[in-house]
Amino acid sequence: MCDHKNGSETCRDNGYCYDGNIQIGPCPACNTLVYLQAAKAAAESTGYYESETDNGTGVELWEKAVKFARKANPTQFNSILTSIGRVNALYVNDPSTSSDELLVKTFVYGEEKSRDEINKLKESWFRDACWDIEDTEGFSLYYDELLAFRKQCEQEWEAEYAMRKAKEEASLHAELEKIGTIGLLRQIKWLEERLDQALERIHKLESQSK
Ligand SMILES: [Zn+2]
Repeated sequence: MCDHKNGSETCRDNGYCYDGNIQIGPCPACNTLVYLQAAKAAAESTGYYESETDNGTGVELWEKAVKFARKANPTQFNSILTSIGRVNALYVNDPSTSSDELLVKTFVYGEEKSRDEINKLKESWFRDACWDIEDTEGFSLYYDELLAFRKQCEQEWEAEYAMRKAKEEASLHAELEKIGTIGLLRQIKWLEERLDQALERIHKLESQSK
């Protein structure tokens, strides 16, 4: 029994999703291989598509399908994706020109990487974590490991940030204790005077330049 649901689409037990009585396509949860095969066929024959609800290149279509299927069937996803092997997805640089040349982006799944390659990837991501490392192309076999690595790093970074904030806060408190409330008021007064002087100077400069 499959309970996959996406908006108004629901899976019937034949492995296909329906919106009312209209068949939408293979179910990503219980018919994942067929779902991905269909997405592969579409991505390899479409440079750019536009529907009522969606648009994008073949490459984007494929990437979306991968994300969706992974979410719908997380336990079997990796082995199914590995069996897909290779996808030559199409794309165009500029969809507004219909004559634009079709380009190909190849995705390779199930490729073994050495420990060294994985560690290098982690290092370069660590220096500039501007993408989700588990989605790195060519590393699909290591998705779980890379996702865990990202979560762990993010946790550590958050803890570091919280600690730094707490330290800043503590040093502010210590400073206040040292100068006392009267000292603080004196500082504010002094700053106010400086601000007034600065405003006056700006005012003068402005009237000169007119
Ligand atoms: Zn299903």
